[in-house]
Amino acid sequence: MTKMKKAVRRDKWVDRIIFLGGDDAFRRHWSEKFGGEMPQMSEHEELSKTYMEIAIWDICVGALNRVLAKLEQPAIFADFDRLHVLETAVFDKDLGANCAGKFQYGHVYVRRVENAYDLVGFLCHELVHLASRFELTLAPAGDRARIESVREGHLVAASDDDSPPLFLGLNEAVTEQLASMVRREVLRSLNGTSDENRIRLSATWCYEPQIMVVTEACNRLAAVLGLEPRQTGRFLFRGYFNGSNAFVRKLRLNLPETYAALRDMGDDAADARRAAEILGYDAVLERLGPPAPEQAPAPAPEPPKDGGSAA
Ligand SMILES: [Zn+2]
Repeated sequence: MTKMKKAVRRDKWVDRIIFLGGDDAFRRHWSEKFGGEMPQMSEHEELSKTYMEIAIWDICVGALNRVLAKLEQPAIFADFDRLHVLETAVFDKDLGANCAGKFQYGHVYVRRVENAYDLVGFLCHELVHLASRFELTLAPAGDRARIESVREGHLVAASDDDSPPLFLGLNEAVTEQLASMVRREVLRSLNGTSDENRIRLSATWCYEPQIMVVTEACNRLAAVLGLEPRQTGRFLFRGYFNGSNAFVRKLRLNLPETYAALRDMGDDAADARRAAEILGYDAVLERLGPPAPEQAPAPAPEPPKDGGSAA
């Protein structure tokens, strides 16, 4: 009689741990620790999740998995205990006032919002971060381990404050392009949605300037390589999930100035404008319009951008 092996579905936490030093026992201990559930790196006062919030989480995870299947990437299993809903004042204080949601070391944080469609929109972005390639570089520090750097999608961030993150704006552009694909997938599964909500779920919600710059870079790289733009886009999307560096490597070899500009582009609109200026992307600059005056009044909070990774 064949003994049936019970199938176990697990959350995806860390894809890879790179050790800088440490003996076998150190490596085994931390591989097991991060191979299981990843603890929250910081505690926040959180609200009990409502049935609606849990249902929306499940709908968005399902939609994300359908997008992953289209991109020939493995599905993820992400239980709703990785979602944390905070009062907006707590979110502002702990995680920042200018972001709508936050992804940190395997956990997703959002504000409590009245409108279910707002939650769908914000969650789709953070869930794409959650599904992205996640690597930790660890070094021994006394009895503990120190996180030297993280890779999240295309973002590489050192844990010291002196080193700026690399590919931050590129990573957010890719995240939001994928998030808009997930939102459209959510939309397909809904019945009786108002036109206003259909339009909202069909749009990108943030990082539009970064998306313009990255799209133009993909087009120009494709022209140099004799490929269709969607083919360079495919390198970019797949590398975001599977850790391949094919896109950045081709960029560095063929368009080194573009590589440097995308490596250094941050997540502010001004950062995208600077990259477009360096690269002479006149059509992008025209679409971006004139730069905001320095003493401009505070921008409207809608739609707020999210905060990317924790460094
Ligand atoms: Zn983000």
